[in-house]
Amino acid sequence: MQKKRVAILGSTGSIGTQALDVIAANPHIFEVEVLTAQNNADLLIEQSLQFKPNTVVIANDSLYGKVAEALQPHDIKVFAGANALKSVVQMDTVDIVLTALVGFAGLEPTLKAIEARKPIALANKETLVVAGAIITEMTERYKVPILPVDSEHSAIFQCLAGEFHNKIEKIILTASGGPFRGKKREELAHVTKAQALKHPNWSMGAKITIDSASLMNKGLEVIEAKWLFYLEPSEIEVIVHPQSIIHSIVQFEDGSMKAQMGLPDMKLPIQYALAYPNRIASDFPRFDFTKYPSLTFEQPDLETFRNLGLAFEALKMGGNAPCILNAANEIAVELFLKDEIGFLQMSDLVEKCLQKIDFIQNPTIENLLHTDTYTRQKAREWSKPS
Ligand code: NAD
Ligand code: MG
Repeated sequence: MQKKRVAILGSTGSIGTQALDVIAANPHIFEVEVLTAQNNADLLIEQSLQFKPNTVVIANDSLYGKVAEALQPHDIKVFAGANALKSVVQMDTVDIVLTALVGFAGLEPTLKAIEARKPIALANKETLVVAGAIITEMTERYKVPILPVDSEHSAIFQCLAGEFHNKIEKIILTASGGPFRGKKREELAHVTKAQALKHPNWSMGAKITIDSASLMNKGLEVIEAKWLFYLEPSEIEVIVHPQSIIHSIVQFEDGSMKAQMGLPDMKLPIQYALAYPNRIASDFPRFDFTKYPSLTFEQPDLETFRNLGLAFEALKMGGNAPCILNAANEIAVELFLKDEIGFLQMSDLVEKCLQKIDFIQNPTIENLLHTDTYTRQKAREWSKPS
């Protein structure tokens, strides 16, 4: 059997390194063709020496010399800069592109990969949040599958196997509730980034960990689900499930519900997306019901965690509103991680941007690029005390 040749955008991150674990465990099925990273040149070099990709990209130009010196003697091509990401995804020798980079930076390489008819294993949810309408239109035009890596969307996708023709009544996305579940607004006013970075169930990159603490992650996932599964906002619900065992649920027209479950481990959805439509044997730890005698569920607290409501609002507004929401949130998280704004101010900043930045009903890619840049600039400005 021909091996599947994988391009991993963001190979040094949480999803990227776990994807390499999956590939290392299945060398007869997968082969690494492209690896890319932003700043972590040392790990990128180490990964490249182990997996021997054809091509490597270091997005931060200033690190090109270091990476090239280490890898060119091993016959590995090295490129630098954000534009290189857009060309490596189009290489003839790439069979599937895993978008494991974080934030808006995932958008343009994903568009290029779709144009080159490469199936996308999509971890970078921000891409679908920002440009869901355009991406969906393109995947239909180029007949390219988007295979979800996000655990909730992988769960829905797995529940839909054999059911794609059946109407969905609603989906229920589960949320762990993050480290601040049960806390009220007053208690969140002075939480630190160290507290916010301690996720109870998942070990992930810093940005998504803060998004999980603020429930923005679930908001972004609601928008991601709309585009992946062609749903109306009213057909998407969120329920807090602190044990993170049920990864999400589909309810069909006849009232039947299907849930996908397992221990929280991103390797499983990563492997499912890379190997789709096949399942492959794994030695991932198995779930044991007797160790989890109670799986519990509760309503999300929308008054404390305002981001979830803001994301639903942006979804209903449509147009460039989710792009504004995403850009404002990326800046809010960055400033929170630099101790420049408090935890609650993150939602204030997102709300202000959604209210004040010009709405565009049917944005082009150029409109979205501009909305992103402009929102980032305004969010920085508005974060300063006047
Ligand atoms: P991370 O911060 O651990 O890793 C990000 C990777 O992207 C790194 O390799 C980094 O070098 C690269 N990168 C960052 N900024 C870049 C830029 N501007 N240009 C090019 N490369 C860049 O992030 P992560 O936790 O692995 O998350 C990656 C994506 O997957 C995010 O969109 C996140 O929402 C999604 N996701 C992650 C998890 C998880 O468990 N970590 C789960 C579901 C979805
Ligand atoms: Mg998720």
